[in-house]
Amino acid sequence: MQTVSIPTLAFGRFSGVLGERGARQLQHTVEDAHKILGSRIMWHVNSTAAGGGVAEMLQTLLGYERGAGLDARWLVIEGDTDFFALTKRIHNRLHGRMGDGGDLGETEHTQYQKITRRNARDILRSVRPGDVVILHDPQTAGLASHLAELGATVVWRCHIGRDEMNQAATDAWAFLKPYLEHVDAFIFSRACYVPSWLASHPVFIIPPAIDAFSAKNEPMGRATCRSILNHIGLLERTVANGDLDFLRLDGSNGRVERKANIVQVNPIPGWDVPMVVQVSRWDPLKDMAGVMRGFANRIDKMGDAHLVLVGPDVSGVTDDPEGIQVLEDCIARWHRLRKKAKERVHLVCLPMDDIEENAVMVNAIQRHSTMIIQKSLHEGFGLTVTEAMWKARPISASAVGGIQDQIVDEVHGLLLEDPTDTQAMAKAIQFLLENHAVARRLGRNARRRAIAKFLGPRQLIQFVDLLYALEGKSRQRRAA
Ligand code: UDP
Repeated sequence: MQTVSIPTLAFGRFSGVLGERGARQLQHTVEDAHKILGSRIMWHVNSTAAGGGVAEMLQTLLGYERGAGLDARWLVIEGDTDFFALTKRIHNRLHGRMGDGGDLGETEHTQYQKITRRNARDILRSVRPGDVVILHDPQTAGLASHLAELGATVVWRCHIGRDEMNQAATDAWAFLKPYLEHVDAFIFSRACYVPSWLASHPVFIIPPAIDAFSAKNEPMGRATCRSILNHIGLLERTVANGDLDFLRLDGSNGRVERKANIVQVNPIPGWDVPMVVQVSRWDPLKDMAGVMRGFANRIDKMGDAHLVLVGPDVSGVTDDPEGIQVLEDCIARWHRLRKKAKERVHLVCLPMDDIEENAVMVNAIQRHSTMIIQKSLHEGFGLTVTEAMWKARPISASAVGGIQDQIVDEVHGLLLEDPTDTQAMAKAIQFLLENHAVARRLGRNARRRAIAKFLGPRQLIQFVDLLYALEGKSRQRRAA
């Protein structure tokens, strides 16, 4: 079991975003959290300290909790290759996919319990009776009974789900069910991800949040944005006075040094050229190729807009053959585009050597975009959508998974009913490019919604509500 050190992040900075009323409500929440927790520690347990959305979210969520004076701590379990292959299998099945096609039988239970017992021995040395332990995802579910026996309050948060149950998902839930018997409360990102047998249990729906002040999301001036896009090679080099420096989470200074690897035709676009952007992993479910096809087929109606498809650099990443395949497929399709379309489509791979440098590049691209596309075929909860909303970008996104909770159609963006309909997507792009007033209104609404629903403070408020509910108390809402 590894203890992860957490930065203490200044909680007060939210007052600038939430306004006076919101800031007071947050202050009351923090006071209530102190009241209900007393000297108890709030532990989060997951399976990795870096990489993946959960780790990214814990870094900042826990950082702000500590900034609010709460004793929040983070432990990471240990396992061997077989254990993680098994938990990846469960993860895939909860998404409804077969993954490696392996079994979930007695042998797998024995294997899961062996590693769980080892981690339980470690965790029981730190956790005290009465502490609150939030276990994240299938890897940690087995710890619940050990912690409950100790007298801790156990919450299990599942970050995975699919809208409709299928056989693969049913099998994964059947595997996990015995380990979840002693959980006091469950957290899911969407109501329809909750398996029916949990209906009579305390279940709380808490969607993921982004950190408004991380390198990925912090405000960025136009000059800096321009300098970064010049530097990485996406925009034509002009005089830009912005700097390439940024502040890291640990308070030290960072600088955008690397360049992006971009498939494009010269001359590259200038500052004034409208940019339609999708940021995603190179994953078949994000359908980058579909976005390119739809845009290219309607190129004559797209004014002078360019399409920018942005993902992580996959070169040398040996453990994600799917990423390499998807990117190579996109490049092959790009080569086959007509000249006019080819000149207006850019495939951008951002370096991943320094994750915060990568985040700053994503920030600059999202902020510079005229509009954002998220044409996912499936989506648990689209962080890229929330990032775009926070940045007040007009969005067109598929009406799948969590995106349906993030965006109300025609209020915070345009939803695409059929995620495979590339023509409808292209029409939505054209509409947003041509109707500036509507695009601006959608962007403004999206930002308001992101502030109200998808930033860290809302997550903390819901979590404190959960703590009160678990102890049979209801929080007195004070006038804010
Ligand atoms: N992302 C990134 N660099 C990239 C491409 C993507 O940091 O080059 C980030 C993106 O900004 C978002 C996350 O990866 O924060 C993707 O999360 P999302 O929920 O949208 O999709 P997932 O990858 O979890 O399916």
